[in-house]
Amino acid sequence: MFYNCKDTAVPNYNNHAVLLFFKYFYRIYMHIIKTANVLSDYLTSIRRDNPKVTIGFVPTMGALHEGHASLVTESTSKSDITVCSIFVNPTQFGEAADLDNYPKPIEKDIELLMDNGCDILFLPDYNQVYPTSYVQQKFNLNDLDLKIEGASRPGHFQGVCNVLFRFFHIVKPDFAFFGQKDYQQSIVVKRLAELMDSAPEIVVVPIKREPHGLAMSSRNVRLSEKGKMNAAFIYKAITQLKEDTEDMALTDAVQKAKQFISAQKGARIDYLLAVDASTLNEVSHLEEADSIAVVTVVEYEGVRLLDNIILK
Ligand code: AMP
Repeated sequence: MFYNCKDTAVPNYNNHAVLLFFKYFYRIYMHIIKTANVLSDYLTSIRRDNPKVTIGFVPTMGALHEGHASLVTESTSKSDITVCSIFVNPTQFGEAADLDNYPKPIEKDIELLMDNGCDILFLPDYNQVYPTSYVQQKFNLNDLDLKIEGASRPGHFQGVCNVLFRFFHIVKPDFAFFGQKDYQQSIVVKRLAELMDSAPEIVVVPIKREPHGLAMSSRNVRLSEKGKMNAAFIYKAITQLKEDTEDMALTDAVQKAKQFISAQKGARIDYLLAVDASTLNEVSHLEEADSIAVVTVVEYEGVRLLDNIILK
């Protein structure tokens, strides 16, 4: 397989047949673009020549796994061209150590993207995303950014929205794909889309799990092999919780799940909450909202493991 790592001029798509040819071609020859202007000019020229072309966008922070691959696959099935980004966004990290320790296996990532049909990888450095003229914005997220994960990580979701705001302007995608794995993020991003004039349609893709149930995550590489197997208790707890709500009060089912997780050696619950799936407000009864999600973060072997399940 080959990829082009330079911001060179790329072929002009002047009709749909040519586009399909290059789309096929690109499966063995993904284009890697590092400069924001080059990417936006390139996509503009594609749109000019093919007004009906659809562009799907998958933003990531790299250290890619099958969960990310499922987003890319969803994008390739829904859009003519799939653009993925890899950018470890400093403005969404609280602790410098977490940012510094974030894994960056770029060659492996490139291979995974090519294997899954990504057409263009956007691989910017900090200055391309945040030129000196860019002023960090404060979005009105209806307090969605202050709840749950946002309460433990102040500024995190504003950081996520700033980077996506930039990316959406550069790529101008028709669709943007996010994982249900980061449930709160998917709700925050839908709110960001409401605030933008020409936002993409936000598509949320189901959680990809290890065979025993642990939600795949870039941070799982920090778990020991045994820890990775054991950490399946989180999924077990929330699926049991869902089952329990059929004949148990919601608060009792939540309590039971918490006790089950706390009984696992080395596990510490950061939070485990039943929330209104739209407002993210905590709920005590199933009747309190049309749709309810259970969201949790458990610290295990020093790694924060996120998971969630939709109850109804
Ligand atoms: P990240 O690189 O961690 O920022 O994740 C990039 C995107 O991949 C986000 O939309 C995540 O929600 C999504 N994602 C991460 N893990 C999974 C997973 N296990 N299943 C589905 N999507 C995922």
